[in-house]
Amino acid sequence: MISTSFSLSTSDPLHRLREPPPSRLHHHLHLHRRLRRRISLFPTSATTRQTTTTTPSTVKDPKTAIVIGGGLAGLSASTKLYSSGVPFLLLEASDGVGGRVRTDSVDGFLLDRGFQIFITAYPEAQKLLDYSSLNLKKFYSGAKVYFDGKFHVVADPVRHFWDAVGTLVNPIGTVVDKLLIGLTRIRVLQKSDEEIFYCSEVPIIELLRSWGFSESIIDRFFRPFFGGIFFDRELETTSRLFDFIFKSLALGDNTLPEKGIGEISNQLASKLPSDSIRLNSRVISIQIEKQKSAHWVSVKLENGEELRSETGVILAVEEPEAEKLLAGTLLVSDKRVKKPGRSTVCLYFSAEKAQIPSSDPVLYLNGSGKGIINNMFFATTVAPSYGPPGKALVSVSLIGLFNDVADDDLVAQVVRELSEWRAVEALLQDSKVPRAIN
Ligand SMILES: Cc1cc2nc3c(=O)[nH]c(=O)nc-3n(C[C@H](O)[C@H](O)[C@H](O)COP(=O)(O)OP(=O)(O)OC[C@H]3O[C@@H](n4cnc5c(N)ncnc54)[C@H](O)[C@@H]3O)c2cc1C
Repeated sequence: MISTSFSLSTSDPLHRLREPPPSRLHHHLHLHRRLRRRISLFPTSATTRQTTTTTPSTVKDPKTAIVIGGGLAGLSASTKLYSSGVPFLLLEASDGVGGRVRTDSVDGFLLDRGFQIFITAYPEAQKLLDYSSLNLKKFYSGAKVYFDGKFHVVADPVRHFWDAVGTLVNPIGTVVDKLLIGLTRIRVLQKSDEEIFYCSEVPIIELLRSWGFSESIIDRFFRPFFGGIFFDRELETTSRLFDFIFKSLALGDNTLPEKGIGEISNQLASKLPSDSIRLNSRVISIQIEKQKSAHWVSVKLENGEELRSETGVILAVEEPEAEKLLAGTLLVSDKRVKKPGRSTVCLYFSAEKAQIPSSDPVLYLNGSGKGIINNMFFATTVAPSYGPPGKALVSVSLIGLFNDVADDDLVAQVVRELSEWRAVEALLQDSKVPRAIN
């Protein structure tokens, strides 16, 4: 049985990560599709530029493909090249692989770069990853929603049938809403992933209303839950992604790898030859060049080095960076008006484990419609390895960037709200533990 309140004291702010605007999930999934279309492994005459001015150093074998960006997209592409026997070199600007999927170790705590969940049903992940060595730790399949001063359970009716029955009359939606959730599960499970991604799309909010979900479940559950996944409480994200995530949640478990979300990236990288990955290697330009009948791609690094590849380049970086690198001769002009990127802020706090009254590995959602917290959870109740012995790690996520709010004010506001939730009884004691990144 899941308890419905908790208290916690003496929280120290560990870390606050402000994700920059381009971190909108659906935006990036979309980007990858667009990048696949845009990248020309074999330069065409339309995009070819005649030049004789540079004498670039080739990668050892000129047939070596160059992968730019060592996030999940670049690592997956490299894995595919490796298994296909295509020589490649992965260039990563930062000091480690993983991009947004990295974990920092700070004073014995594992701090993922933003709140992330690994859903085991992701089809590509099933192909690429060895789940058993990730030692995945499961979340409860459902959530506890803070509304009207109390927590109310929303449970997956298949995995937690009796919990779900017990929640039929709670205020997080009507009985009809809860039946509709069951029907949604059936509906998405009947669709293949191809059907999901190629069917007509509407904003999630329209989809939910068209199915007859009440405003109460939309505001109290869908906005914090799916809003938290897509950094989009307005639920303007495409219905295709809603269906895909709903299906993945129905088929798989919500988990965290024992050693942090970054272990997913580390595992992918560990299967690649170590000399095929170059860290601290920021690419600053890409040119497609031609001399007589020969084509190659020339890649310039920040340190002045130039590499050329006759096979081509896979560009797997964030959208603004991709646009910068492709600007000029390569960028296919995109005249669509872009919406501003979506952002999130994640704050970590530590507490004494003994002060956490709940041992349930559950996600807490803010369904109250008030305040700035969207969701929180005790990471160490999902994976005890996220904290040193005796300590608990508290992860709090906000939607938006809050650039105009000073860090201290933001922390104070979050702690105040957690106190109202009865999650933190005493305010911040000190802030000696540093922010790890950004
Ligand atoms: C806070 C947060 C929570 C999320 N939660 C989830 C979740 O729960 N479940 C889920 O499935 N997805 C989640 N996502 C989305 C997921 O993290 C991303 O879709 C995915 O990591 C994107 O991978 P990528 O390789 O495309 O890009 P990135 O991870 O951004 O990788 C791009 C890489 O390119 C490098 N790079 C950039 N410019 C250059 C250059 N010029 N030269 C060389 N290298 C360069 C960067 O350093 C970086 O390593 C979340 C994202 C965020 C931000």
